[in-house]
Amino acid sequence: MENSNNQYYVIAYYYYTNLPDAEELVPKHLAFCKEIGIRGRIYIAQEGINGTISGTVEACETYMNHLKNDPRFSGIEFKIDEHHEHAFNRIHVRHKQEIVHSGLRNPKEIDPTVETGKHLSGKEFEALKEQEDVVIIDVRSNYETRLGRFKNSVTLDIETFREFPNKVAELEQFKDKKVVTVCTGGIKCEKASAYLLKQGFKDVYQLHNGIIGYAKETGGKDFDGSLYVFDGRVSVPVNHVNPTAIASCKKCGTPTFRNLNCANVECNEQFNMCETCGAEMEGACSDACKVHPRKRPYNGTGYYTRPSIEELQHQH
Ligand SMILES: [Zn+2]
Ligand SMILES: [Zn+2]
Repeated sequence: MENSNNQYYVIAYYYYTNLPDAEELVPKHLAFCKEIGIRGRIYIAQEGINGTISGTVEACETYMNHLKNDPRFSGIEFKIDEHHEHAFNRIHVRHKQEIVHSGLRNPKEIDPTVETGKHLSGKEFEALKEQEDVVIIDVRSNYETRLGRFKNSVTLDIETFREFPNKVAELEQFKDKKVVTVCTGGIKCEKASAYLLKQGFKDVYQLHNGIIGYAKETGGKDFDGSLYVFDGRVSVPVNHVNPTAIASCKKCGTPTFRNLNCANVECNEQFNMCETCGAEMEGACSDACKVHPRKRPYNGTGYYTRPSIEELQHQH
């Protein structure tokens, strides 16, 4: 897509399915990923699987076929981006109670395989959002919507999706409207839209495959800023029709599409900074962080892998 040097894939996927042996599946899945050279972050729970991975095209094809050929994952869909290298430094496969943490005291209260919002393709969403009585609810976190969001969408001041159920009271006024939930890849919307229906919202939709899918299927019209992603790319462009930067550089205030983690490992704050200021500040959020002894070398991306538990144990 970008150029012919892209011999890697970055793939996002999730699938709600019944995995009673989720815990035993984890070491097997990890061994398989290591064997074929897949890196990334994969969560497995009784309710399904959720992952973002990177690997060579060949390794990724092997991985996708492996899942697709397993009857438990037969309906799985993969969102594939081309890339020139791995987007992760390591592979993590973890067992979780939920593949995305709903924040509900009783997570079983909702089951997206039983009842959830109506799925809209990117094209259907693009058409529906033009209607007057439609409200777009972005269920992502504040640092994500700060970097990019749909024009006229409702955003929530939440740090994590766990806080979503507590924010639903703020959405009461939209109960009788057509409500469409949006998120990065669609996984949160499965639960968010199911929960809205449980709370008495009447006409609930969700953007299937999320903003990533919308970007692939359409020109990304009316998405302002860029899409925050949880891998080495940090953020990716969405809109090729009417793009507008909405975050402002922490230092000079110019609108920017860029998001960085502070280079000082002890700060690690998320902030927006233009390319020029980022280089000048060596990836630090402040003058204090710039001269901090634990400042990491800045490679221009503002992405740093978290130290592993083993590395932390060596440090302390
Ligand atoms: Zn700047
Ligand atoms: Zn800092």
